[in-house]
Amino acid sequence: MLLLDGRLVPGTGGAFETINPATEEVLGTAADAAPADMDRAIDAARRAFDETGWATDHAFRARCLRQLRDGLRRRADELRDLTIREVGAPRFLTFGAQLDAPVDDLGWFADLVESYAWERDLGRAEPMGMASHRRVRREAAGVVGAVTPWNFPHQINLAKLGPALAAGNTVVLKPAPDTPWCAAVLGEVIAEETDIPAGVVNVVTSSDHGLGAQLTRDPRVDLVSFTGSTTTGREVMASAAGTLKRVFLELGGKSAFIVLDDADLRAACSYAAFSGVAHAGQGCAITTRILVPRERYAEAAEITAGTLAKLGVGDPQDDRTICGPVISARQRERIEGYLELAVEEGGSFACGGGRPEGRDKGFWIEPTLITGLTNEARAAREEIFGPVLVLLPHDGDDDAVRIANDSPYGLSGAVHGGDVERARAVARRLRTGTVSVNGGVWYSADVPFGGYKQSGIGREMGVAGFEEYLETKAIAEGL
Ligand code: NAD
Repeated sequence: MLLLDGRLVPGTGGAFETINPATEEVLGTAADAAPADMDRAIDAARRAFDETGWATDHAFRARCLRQLRDGLRRRADELRDLTIREVGAPRFLTFGAQLDAPVDDLGWFADLVESYAWERDLGRAEPMGMASHRRVRREAAGVVGAVTPWNFPHQINLAKLGPALAAGNTVVLKPAPDTPWCAAVLGEVIAEETDIPAGVVNVVTSSDHGLGAQLTRDPRVDLVSFTGSTTTGREVMASAAGTLKRVFLELGGKSAFIVLDDADLRAACSYAAFSGVAHAGQGCAITTRILVPRERYAEAAEITAGTLAKLGVGDPQDDRTICGPVISARQRERIEGYLELAVEEGGSFACGGGRPEGRDKGFWIEPTLITGLTNEARAAREEIFGPVLVLLPHDGDDDAVRIANDSPYGLSGAVHGGDVERARAVARRLRTGTVSVNGGVWYSADVPFGGYKQSGIGREMGVAGFEEYLETKAIAEGL
């Protein structure tokens, strides 16, 4: 069902199928919204913003966010199963970023509503000789259009809803067509288990990407918060320009995992392999270029390939699975195109390179390590979004930084080294929004996440992420 103006309703476009990527089984159908439904959703969000006290009642919003968190927690077992079946996410990830972590993070945003300094007193001054008392207020931006992808649906949907609602906005959420159920269940919990007023959140599932575009064009929407590919991000920005909307973009990446020459090569490469193919590599911030000292390239290839081969692929329902299926046949084709390209560009596979044996149903790609390429190759530069890693040699810290930064993207990165001061110095030189040093985890509600360069504009999570959803107003009183 769609959530439109506080009611759970079918889509006027009918229904569309959602598929288990591990088995190709049709799980069922989701409401298929038509443009008229999107129009109603935007209208409801506009009215809820303009005509209710939602934007100014901070205590009420904090309470509603906690209700949403608690309602989702009550359905955690059902949601875990749904996420594994609809997204193909390995079970172990649902105890973290695929479900439990983003649900818990709603509480952090509720606390922030209560502790945030909504108004700052700048005191008296006499600008140009006129005595004035100045105050600066932060206010909600208005109606937020949230457009999200399929790879971490709960994390991304909630990383938009949490701060947008905490800030006092109303929201129209348009999830990806591949994972409609993960979003529909949010609509249900909001309608059935929270006091969030009608129209404050609208959930519009649809098989039609055009509804996302509709949201970016509509003059009643004040801000578009988009997560997805860099190509679509460009379209969103161009389309939002027509009404000069604020845009917030979380886009693609091709992040580097730098192994310095004083690192424990075995530990670092094993970790790079594991983290690189978790959820079949379908994460924007995954480090997919592994940079190792040139003189130890062959050894690094052997360790990384050995770990990948051992990980293999597995049923996402199994606790031990790290690498499950990819989301769709279309995505598998795209990845296979890059595997062919890598060979044409002179690369070879230290392991993987195709579909795993014995899996006739579902969308599977073997964990793959490409060797023998330079950073100029397209397979080394472009986002593949599958369990495919590229091993590149470097000639010391400066060269590693140069290669890491030689990318149109700037989302994330990792540095492993024996001397933490030195590793930290390398981390500071990376032109990326997040960096992990020696396995440090930056993912958390209080840590801003986002991209430099073509990986995006703005930050999600943390106080910086919350403030993306605020306007700033200065009020000066004459004395
Ligand atoms: P996508 O760009 O194809 O689609 C994302 C969303 O945009 C979907 O809901 C889609 O329906 C909608 N959409 C499509 N065309 C649109 C248009 N013209 N205007 C408005 N909306 C439109 O991305 P995807 O394939 O769903 O997801 C994979 C991509 O997302 C990868 O590139 C990945 O790196 C990126 N991603 C980035 C982050 C991040 O935080 N930086 C997180 C997750 C995924």
